Amino acid sequence: MECLFCKIAAGEIPAQRLYEDDLAIAFQDVNPQAPVHFLVIPRKHIATLHDLDEQADKSLAGHLLLVAQRLARQLGCDKGFRVVINSDALAGQTVFHLHLHVLGQRPLYWPPG
Ligand code: 5GP
Ligand code: ZN
Repeated sequence: MECLFCKIAAGEIPAQRLYEDDLAIAFQDVNPQAPVHFLVIPRKHIATLHDLDEQADKSLAGHLLLVAQRLARQLGCDKGFRVVINSDALAGQTVFHLHLHVLGQRPLYWPPG
């Protein structure tokens, strides 16, 4: 298994896990860009947002967003938070296993640069 986040999902590489279920795992980003910065990933390997299957992954896509919402709420991001998916190298994706970044507990600006 080559993929870093597949290894985290399998427990082969440690991470500070916040949540997990049959479909998804959430863990702290190792290099946080805000007081709250965690990642939500599918257990199954999907490289980028392009690779989500319109039929097979429909409920998974919604589930990832709802996990992000629930954890953001639990971590006190009631005044606002940001969900980001960097999809492909031009957008800054460095780990090619789909992940939602959730950032909060500091002011965030737009455009992101
Ligand atoms: P990307 O640039 O692909 O959107 O984001 C990858 C994220 O994964 C980065 O924010 C980076 O800090 C995080 N990351 C990279 N390697 C690891 C790791 O081994 N453990 C954890 N918890 N996060 C990682
Ligand atoms: Zn993977």
